[in-house]
Amino acid sequence: MNRVLVTGGAGFLGSHLCERLLAEGNDVICVDNLFTGNKDNIRHLMSNPYFEFIRHDITEPLYVEVDQIYNLACPASPIHYQHDPIKTAKTSVFGALNMLGLAKRVHARILQASTSEVYGDPEIHPQPESYRGCVNTIGIRSCYDEGKRMAETLFFDYHRQHGVDIKVMRIFNTYGPRMHPNDGRVVSNFIVQALKNEDVTIYGTGRQTRSFCYVSDLIEGMVRLMNSRDGFTGPVNMGNPGEFTMLELAEKVIEMTGSTSKIIFKELPQDDPMQRKPVIELAKKELGWEPSVVLEEGLEKTIEYFKTIVKNVR
Ligand code: NAD
Ligand code: UDP
Repeated sequence: MNRVLVTGGAGFLGSHLCERLLAEGNDVICVDNLFTGNKDNIRHLMSNPYFEFIRHDITEPLYVEVDQIYNLACPASPIHYQHDPIKTAKTSVFGALNMLGLAKRVHARILQASTSEVYGDPEIHPQPESYRGCVNTIGIRSCYDEGKRMAETLFFDYHRQHGVDIKVMRIFNTYGPRMHPNDGRVVSNFIVQALKNEDVTIYGTGRQTRSFCYVSDLIEGMVRLMNSRDGFTGPVNMGNPGEFTMLELAEKVIEMTGSTSKIIFKELPQDDPMQRKPVIELAKKELGWEPSVVLEEGLEKTIEYFKTIVKNVR
């Protein structure tokens, strides 16, 4: 049995990861300050004797004894990470330092949930891991993008300088049940708007693209990466290469929910990437991983989830 720490464990991805790790017989410590996560996401795990929740902010040091650390704590949606950008940068950077310090002390293997945002508004398409990105250092997305880039740097410096056993994954847009209904991310926004027959808000022309990965596929990849061969550090892209425009997504969601919503267009936020699609050859080769859930199937499950909570969404 491994003792596993999941930071950000009460969030969207973290709660699915805790569930999976418990099902595999691990002893799981979930650490979260509940900024964007909440106890409802992990309520069903609370009675499991091998699950422990600690309310803690990872910008402060943490002393626990564990074998593996998944570092997921960080607000992930533009609305939330721009709410207090200085805090977002602190969470990425001080959080990484604290968790790497812990990994070094207890000789734990540590995985960083990095992001496709390290590529910024990419000039090459699709994006392989070797692409170094095009990030605005002073824009409204920079607290997150540069915070995550610095965290990657710290991971590789702890690896080179102190021999810490690291794994870095770059996650592309992932969706599914337990996304926060008000966090402004496109899949949850469109579904909630469509279920309420409200206008579906497209930012810009709707011709920008994203590649959407269903949560179960992503968690499978994350666990495979954590348990991959010694010496394989990544960074490794994980996402679904299926690429869609926001207009296509809006039309699909309206059709699948049987909604009467109209599409309206709003201003495109600053530095919003125009296109995004992962090259996943490295994950295929090293981890034997590729996503299997197509967009329609994942949307169906996500829509079912939002139907159960949308009556309470304001
Ligand atoms: P989320 O907001 O649901 O989860 C983040 C969790 O971290 C929340 O539970 C939040 O309360 C917690 N948290 C935030 N700051 C903290 C702090 N200082 N101390 C302790 N806990 C803190 O978002 P998510 O989609 O589950 O994302 C999880 C991770 O994956 C993030 O690091 C994010 O950057 C990364 N990621 C996600 C996506 C995606 O599409 N979902 C894409 C790229 C990267
Ligand atoms: N978007 C949109 N309408 C919304 C929310 C988002 O058109 O109601 C767009 C947004 O401008 C971006 C894309 O959808 O181009 C994905 O946005 P999200 O915030 O989900 O993720 P990210 O930009 O971080 O990939």
